[in-house]
Amino acid sequence: MIEVEVKARAPPGIEEKILGLGGELMGVENHLDLYFSSPFRDFARTDEALRIRVKEVGARLTYKGPKLDSETKSRRELTVRVDDPIAMESILESAGFSRAAVVKKKRTKYALSDAVLAVDDVEGLGSFIEVELTGDENWEDQKRLALDILAKLGLGVSIRKSYLELLAER
Ligand code: ATP
Ligand code: CA
Repeated sequence: MIEVEVKARAPPGIEEKILGLGGELMGVENHLDLYFSSPFRDFARTDEALRIRVKEVGARLTYKGPKLDSETKSRRELTVRVDDPIAMESILESAGFSRAAVVKKKRTKYALSDAVLAVDDVEGLGSFIEVELTGDENWEDQKRLALDILAKLGLGVSIRKSYLELLAER
């Protein structure tokens, strides 16, 4: 599956604006994201990612492929549920992967049209908004909708950098 995603800095008052556009609050999640580096290739260079995400309702293992275009941060994504994240990390480490970074954040999610809007409060970085849609091979429509929503929120500029890259820049 393709995760169609655009991201921008979230200005104050963004959540009121989302509600004003008809967005509905879905919930709040706390994420502990563990990123792994591969012994086979440099994920920072290949623009891939391997991550264990721990949240209140359980953990997930996700692989992200390289970004698919130059405007958004859309990628192919594969995710499975993990019932024991500590064992999962031991498996990855035993196989030669190693923990490269940890990102913590609070994510408030809203539903708007077919999109999920995530307002992220990232530890050490501040607030961001992501507009996410799920696409298949033909994801041009979803991309247009995601960029449209960002524009309706008055946020023209989309950031293509990951939280990891933004943290590294500080
Ligand atoms: P999601 O959208 O799945 O909820 P997120 O919003 O928390 O994730 P993002 O910044 O959108 O986080 O995505 C994680 C990013 O981390 C990916 O873009 C990936 O390319 C990047 N990344 C992973 N490992 C490394 C690494 N070792 N060095 C630099 N960047 C990395
Ligand atoms: Ca994201």
